Amino acid sequence: MSVVDVLLADTLLYSDGKSRPVVEAEAVLRANHVILCEAEDFNKRQIFALCLQISAMKSSPHEVKVKLGSRGTPVEQWNCICSCKAGQYGYCKHFVAVHSYVN
Ligand SMILES: [Zn+2]
Repeated sequence: MSVVDVLLADTLLYSDGKSRPVVEAEAVLRANHVILCEAEDFNKRQIFALCLQISAMKSSPHEVKVKLGSRGTPVEQWNCICSCKAGQYGYCKHFVAVHSYVN
């Protein structure tokens, strides 16, 4: 059973046509760098995850907080925060990795 139901199509829609984070997310998943992933609120689809840093394995893992809202909430209203540099702008490979991981 998945942690939270997230459609792959919505994850790709959220990526806004950018393929690089999707490709890099696959590397994160294949390396098993998603080390924690839990539903903080199953109905509101709030997820907390930790991802190891590929370039700094001994550093603290990145913290990924995903708030998707109840089922049917448009992707434009999703709120994703990651502690990595790219995550400050609302989107990074860790989001995609977590979105894929939960399925
Ligand atoms: Zn990130």
